[in-house]
Amino acid sequence: MSSSAACIFCKIIKGDIPSFKVFESDKVFAFLDIQPLSRGHALVIPKFHGAKLTDIPDEDLLEVLPVAKKIAKASGAEDFNILQNNGRIAHQVVDHVHFHMIPKPNEQEGLGISWPAK
Ligand code: IMP
Repeated sequence: MSSSAACIFCKIIKGDIPSFKVFESDKVFAFLDIQPLSRGHALVIPKFHGAKLTDIPDEDLLEVLPVAKKIAKASGAEDFNILQNNGRIAHQVVDHVHFHMIPKPNEQEGLGISWPAK
């Protein structure tokens, strides 16, 4: 398992930096974004440390998208964005691969969030 002592998301996985965890398995960790673009905005990350999608082994990456799906369902939002940035020009700020799951709530009904994701 690749990990970086300097990486804030590796520290979150280890529990050295607190987070609002919404899911964890052997290979995947998910938590709420500290600066949410909408209520329930979560980040889904492989535990394997790599800066870009191209750095992550397929067997680790394969487990990430089903978790993003679970978390989207748990957010209660029918509409949502999955977003993943690679490199500065592409607006990546944290160099540990992460998928944003950004709920797009129905303005009338709001969200029926039910963490943790099951
Ligand atoms: P990027 O632009 O795709 O790299 O997005 C990085 C995301 O990480 C941003 O949405 C930040 O708000 C989020 N973020 C940075 N530090 C933390 C943290 O300590 N906890 C939760 N989210 C964080």
